[in-house]
Amino acid sequence: MQTLREVLEDAERRHIAVGHFNFSDLAALKAIVEAAREARVPVLVGVSEGERAFLGTRQAAALVASLRNENGFPIFLNADHTHSLAKAEEAAKAGFDEIIFDASFLPWEENVAETRRAVEAIKSINPSILVEGEIGYIGTSSEILDKTPEGMGALTTPEEARQFVEATRVDVLAPAVGNMHGMLKTMVEGVAEKRLDIPRIAAIKAAARVFMTLHGGSGTNDGDFTRAIKAGITIVHINTELRLAWRRGLESALARDPDAVAPYKILPGAVEAVKQVVRSRIDLFNSQ
Ligand SMILES: [Zn+2]
Repeated sequence: MQTLREVLEDAERRHIAVGHFNFSDLAALKAIVEAAREARVPVLVGVSEGERAFLGTRQAAALVASLRNENGFPIFLNADHTHSLAKAEEAAKAGFDEIIFDASFLPWEENVAETRRAVEAIKSINPSILVEGEIGYIGTSSEILDKTPEGMGALTTPEEARQFVEATRVDVLAPAVGNMHGMLKTMVEGVAEKRLDIPRIAAIKAAARVFMTLHGGSGTNDGDFTRAIKAGITIVHINTELRLAWRRGLESALARDPDAVAPYKILPGAVEAVKQVVRSRIDLFNSQ
């Protein structure tokens, strides 16, 4: 079976992107896996520190390993937004394929130094784990927001990206290019969309020469997704849209049968709703 690096190299060559979808429970994971299996594409699943605290770091890894071992299904696990070396090492030892070490909340010099240290520590546990670093601020929570988070706006420059990658030796870079974690209420209502700086993505890719991830993809203009992938984005993160679908799917399942108490009869409503979102995103990311 292909490694995550090989899957990303292949996607880069073909100008498509690998979808990265977060999960907090088995219903969401089941939905992601079913959608990716039906579309016959590799998939990245992610758990943030909060999601890991709920699921268990080793338990999340065991779940994903069991799915991968079933007919060699190409599913890879990412430790999303890891803010401490201890949590990064825990994920590395648990068998994660990728770790996002996110010290972007620190001043530049410290972000570089901490990320560099994390790359060394993670690779000393397992050199095949891909490490992703973050520059720029794009908000932190994958939730429905009333307004744009404080401090957003400064976009990554190609020169910053080049320097950061050179100094830290990360395998993957997450730049700020107009993307944002979470969705504004106006985006949920469908009256607003996130727009990306496509020429900047192309310039950063040329300068940094590593895989690039688009975080905070939920609520982005479809055409911008396609153009961003052509310009050099190889991984796209979707979380808030899935959380929204999970909740709505659950609510309508409960409304359909107010007396239902068997979780395995209620939760398929959430699975189906999440699966539809994952499938539509996968289809978009894989169209050339
Ligand atoms: Zn993110």
